[in-house]
Amino acid sequence: METEELFQKGEYDQVSEVAGKAIEDGQYGESWRLLKARADFARGRYVAALDTLEVANTRYSSSIRLRWLGMQVAKSAGVDELSSRWSNEISALVDRNPWSYTNAASRVTLGRYLFAAGADPRKVLELFFDRAKSSQPGFVDAYIAAGELALSKYDYGIAAEEFQKAAGFEPENADVLYGLARAFASSDSQKADLTIHKALEVNPRHLPSMLYIAETFIDGERYEMAEKWLDRASKVNPEHWNLWALRAVIAHLQADHDREGFCRRTALGWQPLQAKVDYQIGRKLSRHYRFADAVEYQRRSLTIDEDFLPAKTQLGQDLLRLGKNEEGWTLIKQVAKLDGFNVVTHNLLKLNQRLSQFTTLESNGIQVRMDAREAEIYGPQVVQLIEEAREVLCRKYIHELRTPVTIEIFPSQADFAIRTFGLPGGEGFLGVCFGNVITANSPASQAANPSNWQAVLWHEFCHVVTLQKTNNKMPRWLSEGISVYEELQRDAAWGDTLSAEYRVMILGADLTPVSQLSSAFLNPKSSNHLQFAYYESALVVEYLIAKYGQETLLRILIDLSVGMPVNESLQRYTGSLAALDAEFSDWIRDRTTRVGGDLDWAVPERIEVRPDEGVAPSPAEQAMTPAQALAWWNAHPNNYFALQMAAKLFISREEWDAAIPPLEQLIDHFPQERGSNSALRLLARVYRETGDEEQELKLLRQVVREQGNALDEVSRLIELEAEAEDWEGLAETARRGLAINPLRPVVQQALADAADHLNRPTDAIAAYRALLQLDPIDPAGMHYELAEQYVNLGKRKLGKRQVLLALEQAPRYRQALALLKQLADEEVFPPNPSLPNPVPPNPAPPNATGGSRQAEDLLSDRKESR
Ligand SMILES: [Zn+2]
Repeated sequence: METEELFQKGEYDQVSEVAGKAIEDGQYGESWRLLKARADFARGRYVAALDTLEVANTRYSSSIRLRWLGMQVAKSAGVDELSSRWSNEISALVDRNPWSYTNAASRVTLGRYLFAAGADPRKVLELFFDRAKSSQPGFVDAYIAAGELALSKYDYGIAAEEFQKAAGFEPENADVLYGLARAFASSDSQKADLTIHKALEVNPRHLPSMLYIAETFIDGERYEMAEKWLDRASKVNPEHWNLWALRAVIAHLQADHDREGFCRRTALGWQPLQAKVDYQIGRKLSRHYRFADAVEYQRRSLTIDEDFLPAKTQLGQDLLRLGKNEEGWTLIKQVAKLDGFNVVTHNLLKLNQRLSQFTTLESNGIQVRMDAREAEIYGPQVVQLIEEAREVLCRKYIHELRTPVTIEIFPSQADFAIRTFGLPGGEGFLGVCFGNVITANSPASQAANPSNWQAVLWHEFCHVVTLQKTNNKMPRWLSEGISVYEELQRDAAWGDTLSAEYRVMILGADLTPVSQLSSAFLNPKSSNHLQFAYYESALVVEYLIAKYGQETLLRILIDLSVGMPVNESLQRYTGSLAALDAEFSDWIRDRTTRVGGDLDWAVPERIEVRPDEGVAPSPAEQAMTPAQALAWWNAHPNNYFALQMAAKLFISREEWDAAIPPLEQLIDHFPQERGSNSALRLLARVYRETGDEEQELKLLRQVVREQGNALDEVSRLIELEAEAEDWEGLAETARRGLAINPLRPVVQQALADAADHLNRPTDAIAAYRALLQLDPIDPAGMHYELAEQYVNLGKRKLGKRQVLLALEQAPRYRQALALLKQLADEEVFPPNPSLPNPVPPNPAPPNATGGSRQAEDLLSDRKESR
């Protein structure tokens, strides 16, 4: 029908007029009534829509579609009696005459109706939506309904499938595109963005799409843009509850509490008994880390409707993020029981079971929860690092830590994601902080590019301090900026430093003005741009401290804590935002120009080189041929990218000597590049190939000292230092290696060997204990080594226990037998107690609890993550 097309394009007024006229003219059929009511409903003319539907329902006494639409309009208008009456009528009609409602449109309407009434989602899918699809192939409404059902269960994969199928039939349907965007939102925000804009191209008055865009701007802290979209939406339907709920969110985030109250009341105005208004406001506040306020909103929502499951799910998650575990888990369990198809609660409950196997290490109100085996291997180092972070950062930011703080470290990335986001995914995240709860990936899930767990935890703990200090009222960029900055303060090999890519970005067009930094985190152009946003934010923090002092940074945090917007606070101390933007830009550009200033930085069209044929299986597409690369180098002998390409080309050809000069040139002029392609790492490799161990050693030491995640280089350095019996060097290298991956036996063995030779029994004991957890080939030998170390420390009982364990594994172990005999003799003739103990006593290990107690801990006192 032509009029339906007009509706799809958003010509609601015209549709209302045409349909109204058709009705007046006495044209028969429910379609005109449906269209008229839908058009008025879309424009927020609830009373007009209800008038149409009331008359139509008397005339079309068996139409369930008119009644279902009537229920929606009546609810929006707050006329609950009418909604219930039509609901009862649908139920009676279907009971009386079920075979009248077997066409596709009726099936979909009925499925929606039953699902809303709490029917089993799987049955609704099979008996109504699937059957509608097979009875009328290409009936798009059936796919939309199925997609919406999946979205309501947080099952974005299925939702995407349904909407994609729908788009196959009707690529220009705004409802389909809107559904598709929501399905993509959690996994691919760029794709979601494109899709939502396409929806608005098709229908420029598509209200849900406008509200969706407003929401993404709110999430990115761009409130002005969000307001613009809300204003645009209000031209379509000024009455829409969500429009006002989102305005309330913005008012809250801008600390305008009068307006927040006004907007909330307006949202509730038509429908004071709708739980979704407070749910929506709370949900958005949670996205901004305002968990305490978010919890209050969910509680209000549940006061209106105690069975409103979305609010219950959200409340449960927010409580877990606040560390209020008992109540949080109780709610999650309740929801899971009531709604077996809720993916989020299902995932969380399964995770809860695995968490009950974790070990808890406690230290002054900080709880570290880890896999039991990992806790044995490096738990004490985690606790030690966190204690140091607490000491250093709380002093520096003049903050008294509010405990408990919980840190959860997950060996499985999927578990980390579920704990953090409720859903699998989020592979790029190393750790997340929610204020009092940190979640992090353990080194067990490290892939090709390892990270430094100590740097990650330092970074996250810094979030704890700054989020607490500002009562979670902090723009993301500043929180990230301070955390990255503090990583670098603690260890220059952590954090992020100027790379060639960043240099080009800073001096090119990629620097974001300070006043707009929040936007750099919203829909960044690429993952590199997001990484750059972290880096730039840290530079801004460095600049603010250098120019205005640490005390100004503290004042800004205090301003934020009472709800002042960051740009207002920045203006207070820097005079003008425009000047700050300009001065920061000048400062960083000037500094960056001087780094690597002797090199030519012109970027060639292509910076990859295609390896010679036969050298690599799949040449990169956007690459120069070797001849082109060498010609370019010839023409630009001083160019950073030419030198890189030439060096890599020679390495791929195993022309080691030829690779040395370009790499040396790079190191001379731009030594701070990090990563597996950095000149330092490449040259170390070249010297390994040429057998120049002295040069290789020198370079490896530099790499390991300056780059916090160079695990391969650590392994190689361990080899060389052990060979050279450089025990001090080996101890230091092992220490660096443990910060990357303490689960690598070779690193622990290095620590053990070095500690052995340097007579540091405490270190040796830690290493041997770790090795015993790492499936050693010779466990008896490990127990024996441990025994010796304990005896060295004067801990004879522990020593004896280890000897016995060694003998249990290998009953004829000669050295172990001898040690056992020696210990037995000494029990008869104890050694002179007046002799001084040759080594300092072992520090008390942190208080560890494990096993069955954890299950109770988890239900009674635990927390969650960012
Ligand atoms: Zn962070």
